[in-house]
Amino acid sequence: MAKKTYAEKLKDPRWQKKRLEVLSDAEFQCELCGDTESTLHVHHKQYIKGHDVWEYERQQLACLCESCHENQHDLDVRFQDCYQGFLLMALAVKMKFIIFWLDFLVWKSRWIIFMSKCYTSAVMMLQITGEHYDETPFISVLPKRLA
Ligand SMILES: [Zn+2]
Ligand SMILES: [Zn+2]
Repeated sequence: MAKKTYAEKLKDPRWQKKRLEVLSDAEFQCELCGDTESTLHVHHKQYIKGHDVWEYERQQLACLCESCHENQHDLDVRFQDCYQGFLLMALAVKMKFIIFWLDFLVWKSRWIIFMSKCYTSAVMMLQITGEHYDETPFISVLPKRLA
C-alpha cells in the first residue's frame, strides 16, 4: 500500500474514531475557551516521529475551537523560533569555547616551543663557554646557593 499523505490519514476511520472520542470526551466544547458554537478541531499537542495521527493518547490531543486552534499553532511556531534561537546561541557559545580551547592549545604549544628553545640555547651557551654541564644542565646554571 502506498504511503498515505497527512490529509489522507485524517480521513482514515481510525482517526475518525479517535477524533470522535476526543470530541465527546471534551463534551463538544473548546478545551481552552469553552466555545460550543464554532467548528471544533482535534489538535495534536505534539507530534511523535513514526506515529500515525490516530496513534496518540487522549492527553496528547486537545479539542479546540477554530480560533484557539489557530492561536495554538501560532504559539507553536513562536516557540519553535525561540527554540531555534536558543540552539543557535548554544552553538555560538560552544564555538566560542572551541576557539578558546584551540587558542589555549596554540598558546601551550608556543610555550613548549619557547621552553625548548630556552633549553637548547642554554645548553649551547654552556657548550660555547666550555663550562661543565651534566645530565641536568638547568641546575648548573642556577646560582651557587640554590644548586
Ligand atoms: Zn493543531
Ligand atoms: Zn476556543
